[in-house]
Amino acid sequence: MCGRLGVHVCRDCLESVAAELPLFCLECGTDAPCGVHGGALVRAGAAYSGTARELVHIMKYENARSVAVMAGESLAARFSRPHADFLVPVPLHKSSERDYNQAELLAQGAGRVWRLDTANVLKWRVVLPRQALKPGSEREPLREDAMAADALDGVNVFLIDDVYTSGSTMRAAARALEASGASVTGAMVWCRAVSKGHGRPAF
Ligand SMILES: [Zn+2]
Ligand SMILES: [Zn+2]
Repeated sequence: MCGRLGVHVCRDCLESVAAELPLFCLECGTDAPCGVHGGALVRAGAAYSGTARELVHIMKYENARSVAVMAGESLAARFSRPHADFLVPVPLHKSSERDYNQAELLAQGAGRVWRLDTANVLKWRVVLPRQALKPGSEREPLREDAMAADALDGVNVFLIDDVYTSGSTMRAAARALEASGASVTGAMVWCRAVSKGHGRPAF
């Protein structure tokens, strides 16, 4: 990166970490087609390592709101506009003490390019201990009803999050949206955890 520790991150920095990754199954993280699930697919801009991982930290903890918005714009420029009525970011955890949601800023950046609004319709029902919120930390699998969504009958939505690790957050979000009457047409993340040499999630 041309500036260290959030001092300066420009579009070139963001684009330098972009990787061509295959679409993968929202349910199990396997490269599409997974052969088991026929549902929504996830697009990822980079692998969760090196500078891409450092950028996640900057987006989340260094008050670098503009970096998250730029990352959303950069992702949206690389992927076609999804078939959706609006973008839905994964919400901050109830126990989070952060004052902004990097997934919402990613969605706003992407929405600017795609001309789609962002709707904060998801809420966590469960409270996770703060220790469990650290990226890559081991945690219990989430209950499928860990989130709830506002009523969205007949609406098509597209999910946005910063990182796809085990997929349990995305699955909980998708279950909540489906239960509210929405169809999840796909999802996008800034980066995904990938174990070396395999298009499978690194748990
Ligand atoms: Zn730069
Ligand atoms: Zn699958």
